[in-house]
Amino acid sequence: MRAITHAMTGAAIGLGVSEPAVAVPMALASHYVLDALPHYGGGLPESEELNSPTFRVLLLADICLCPLLVLLLAVQRPQHWILAAICAFVAAAPDLASINIYRRARRGEPPKTNRYTRFAHAIQWFERPLGGIFEAAWFMVMLVILVPIIRK
Ligand SMILES: [Zn+2]
Repeated sequence: MRAITHAMTGAAIGLGVSEPAVAVPMALASHYVLDALPHYGGGLPESEELNSPTFRVLLLADICLCPLLVLLLAVQRPQHWILAAICAFVAAAPDLASINIYRRARRGEPPKTNRYTRFAHAIQWFERPLGGIFEAAWFMVMLVILVPIIRK
């Protein structure tokens, strides 16, 4: 899933589960649960996908939206907002491990895989254009949960 979808889920966990010792591991686990659910993918071979304009636009959107989410939390300061910001980061962070795969794809080099990258890849069994419908629905549910809490 996109980083912002992961981050919003993490923020919702942080806001809802006020206990850090529970919320932080839950936020981390949510990354893998969400990646195992249907989500968007261009349906191209990985190197083509990572070099596609769509991927770049979505990556840029993530790079803008994730800090914006943390900024909104920091400005509005709902209860447990710091935990929410930490959980947003933890929920999105596992994909930072993919930076090297992205860099190599951009240079036209084959990905260097390891046990973790193979695991992270394998759980994303439904990463296809149609998965975008489920991902968009999840995004909307997170908006419906987060907006009223953050707006207060
Ligand atoms: Zn992931």
